[in-house]
Amino acid sequence: MTPESLARTVARERRPEPAAPADARRYVNQWVEREAIGSEEVSAFVLILRTRGCYWADQKGCSMCGYAKDTLGRSATPEELAEQLDRALARYRGEPYVKVYTSGSFLDGREVDPASREALVQAFSGKARRLLFETLPEFATPETLIPLRDAFAGELEVALGLESTDPNVLGRLVHKNAPPSEYLDAGDRVRGLGLRAKAYLLLKPPYLTEREAVRDVLASIAEAGRRFDALSVNPVHIQNGTVVEWLYRRGRYRPPWLWSVVETLRSGAPLRGTARLVSFPTAGGLPRGPHNCGKCDTRVLEAIETASLRQDFTILDSLECDCRVGWERLGRIEPLGVEA
Ligand code: SF4
Repeated sequence: MTPESLARTVARERRPEPAAPADARRYVNQWVEREAIGSEEVSAFVLILRTRGCYWADQKGCSMCGYAKDTLGRSATPEELAEQLDRALARYRGEPYVKVYTSGSFLDGREVDPASREALVQAFSGKARRLLFETLPEFATPETLIPLRDAFAGELEVALGLESTDPNVLGRLVHKNAPPSEYLDAGDRVRGLGLRAKAYLLLKPPYLTEREAVRDVLASIAEAGRRFDALSVNPVHIQNGTVVEWLYRRGRYRPPWLWSVVETLRSGAPLRGTARLVSFPTAGGLPRGPHNCGKCDTRVLEAIETASLRQDFTILDSLECDCRVGWERLGRIEPLGVEA
């Protein structure tokens, strides 16, 4: 019998039990964060809906993604989704930027049915200036997008988890379901309909050295900058129930250094064309998130956030700490086979 791959074993073990009815009526999480629309700094209202979750996570899933833990294990009904939305609206204070995630694809009808999608978009229409949702590329079609565009008086932004423009990195290391070309084509379709397209780029998938990871993101910025309105560099943080966590627990993976984030922004800025280039690291400074030595993490994270909001990357030039020498040395010795 052929042994099951590590990715499929991890996917099987993290599949959630169907949730109790009460869980389906509550969204996963909601918070407000700093963002920018153009040169204006604004507040963003972030909402994570509880849905059936990403179909790809059931089959194999991406090596760094543990969002399957936040899902129902079955489709939410329109009534359950409506109640989640009502609860969220009760906390909405007119933030100009709204971001809606589902631990999967907002445009997959198995997660959010078309009528519930339109109801959500209409609920923020005329209140938010920009509304973002995330989807896998195969669901970003004129059939799904045009009704939402017509229902929202403002700017819709479609986020795609491109991660890397290198087919080898995307397929073999990240384990995405589709090649980069499908993400790039989806970005073109989104923009062709007059909507904004945003791509997430993953910094340091498993099995890349720190330097290889930086080079991979820079190559992706150079290629995707022409096809997207915004690029967000997401350094890996260790989520439960993932291949990355499996490696981390065995000492075979270290989350990226914040110096690597700084490097991707500084060197990526001239490559990005007209796209915004940002990074807002999750779990920054924590052992399971992107981190430096502990002494400089807060300062470096603040500089990364400020540079991202203002699109002024010169702020990053003067950052210094003793640990930067260690990060540079690592870049030289890692290719020799020394573990991070
Ligand atoms: S990263 Fe996206 S596509 Fe991959 S398993 Fe997670 S939700 Fe699905």
